[in-house]
Amino acid sequence: MCERVIPEDQRDEHHLVPKSKGGKKTVRLHRICHDQIHSIFTDAQLAKKFSTIETIVEDPAVRTFVTWVRNKPPGFSDSAKESRQSFRRGR
Ligand SMILES: [Zn+2]
Ligand SMILES: [Zn+2]
Repeated sequence: MCERVIPEDQRDEHHLVPKSKGGKKTVRLHRICHDQIHSIFTDAQLAKKFSTIETIVEDPAVRTFVTWVRNKPPGFSDSAKESRQSFRRGR
């Protein structure tokens, strides 16, 4: 989704149509990107409207996230985000 390399330990499978809605097709995403999708959309929204990566990345909230995460190293995760924030606070 963010077009970065996905390290082995960051790989997550996302069901384009949620499993609870009978979806079978999956895509590989970074864990952090995957978490983001599910914090933005409900399963119902994913099943109805956002069942392709193309429609997902068209959402403004997703686009903001992708723009931000794209410049991060492939192994970047939430714990790194915390150290970034404390670094900024120290300035
Ligand atoms: Zn998912
Ligand atoms: Zn990603």
